[in-house]
Amino acid sequence: MSEVKTFEIPIHLKQLITSNQAFHYRVIPIAKEEGVIHLKTDSPDPQGLQKELSIILGYEVLAISEIAENIQSYLTFNYRKTTNSSNEKLQYEDQFLQKLIATAKDFGSSDIHMEPYEKQCRVRFRLDGKLKEQYTISNTEYPQLINQIKIQSGLDISQKRLAQDGRITFKEGADEFDIRVSTMPTLYGEKIVLRLLNRNTQDVSLEDLGFTEEELKNYREAVKNPQGIVLISGPTGSGKTTTLYATLKELNKETTNILTIEDPIEYTLEGINQVQLREDIEFDFPAALRAFLRQDPDIIMVGEIRDDRTAGMTIKAALTGHLVLSTIHTNSAWATISRLIDMNVPSFLLASTITMSIAQRLVRKLCPHCKQPTTVDSKDFPQSFEIPEELTKHYMAVGCNQCYHTGYMGRKAIYEILPVTKELEKAIRHNELEIDMYIEQNNIKTLQHNATRMVIDGDTSVEEVYALLADN
Ligand SMILES: [Zn+2]
Repeated sequence: MSEVKTFEIPIHLKQLITSNQAFHYRVIPIAKEEGVIHLKTDSPDPQGLQKELSIILGYEVLAISEIAENIQSYLTFNYRKTTNSSNEKLQYEDQFLQKLIATAKDFGSSDIHMEPYEKQCRVRFRLDGKLKEQYTISNTEYPQLINQIKIQSGLDISQKRLAQDGRITFKEGADEFDIRVSTMPTLYGEKIVLRLLNRNTQDVSLEDLGFTEEELKNYREAVKNPQGIVLISGPTGSGKTTTLYATLKELNKETTNILTIEDPIEYTLEGINQVQLREDIEFDFPAALRAFLRQDPDIIMVGEIRDDRTAGMTIKAALTGHLVLSTIHTNSAWATISRLIDMNVPSFLLASTITMSIAQRLVRKLCPHCKQPTTVDSKDFPQSFEIPEELTKHYMAVGCNQCYHTGYMGRKAIYEILPVTKELEKAIRHNELEIDMYIEQNNIKTLQHNATRMVIDGDTSVEEVYALLADN
């Protein structure tokens, strides 16, 4: 006699979960042994489910995969789908996170910050480099939102005392991009930062970044070289990566093999081989560069020169006839040279490989709808700053509905471009690292010069570029 398949669950198991939980998580309890609830599910992530349900149910949970058709039969046989408030609440949370991310994306925001405080939690977006409060959430709703994010990004929801890093792939319609998730324990709970990644390079172009015509001509000449090193320096958030991607986009041809090693991959580029750094498996920058050199590359982009080994491998790659593009944390184009020498790069090798050093910053542009002119008063400027004659008035940020009351709208990159000429090559080789005279004589436009230009033109405020104006 053939066995009749039954989907009925014994009552003592059935009552372990509610109907809403069964339908929401698509789980069926099949046994309870020694304090462990065994469940069947068709969820694509049984492991994540185990973690979430063990907290909700207060028992250890073991989830076993089952085909969707059977789960559906179990569900309809044993539970009744209802729409009570708790179910609606779960859906609401799902929608809130989805809405939050979609809104941040629409705003052109790069990061979402979620922070618990004593009375409530706030959500801030980073817009044009500055944080702006967008929502507040009650302290009772906050833990659910955090758990949801942690589950989606593969983090341990029971671990609240250590910082964790994870990733979410966000999908809405045709839009798909990665989000880097980072959690940190703070006084009133976990703070979460979501970084929106993998932006499309469709809108990125060298022409639109902020280069002057002459700067762009010089820069293009350097990156058209089949070999050598072009370095971009600046602090985090100065737009270095965007400049590099716009460059790669231009160099991306059928005839060239371009390899990148990045951490994280911030934009995706069709036709370029992008590799994610994986330090947990010892696939770091030097290891990747070694592998790249066996892959017959023409152009290599190294996300960042962080240490001596990466600096050494970068030089080696350039010496063997490749164009290498990278970034480094220094304050000026010339400071990059001393930094590399500090990283134990022999000055004669540096002199023969580096073709251009660039420093860059992103400067917020004043909102054209509300900026206000003011007269020049020396006490508004850094003491060391010489106020140029043509600066007779400047503009202040005010704030209006058009600019989310920030006073600013959009940003522009300013550059300091230093081509390594024969004369500079000699200076590097002989460790003559004082070049103020050279900069003046060769009319190199420094970051300070370009920042001053923006103030004169009324494009930005003194406050926004104060640090650059003070820098001599
Ligand atoms: Zn405005």
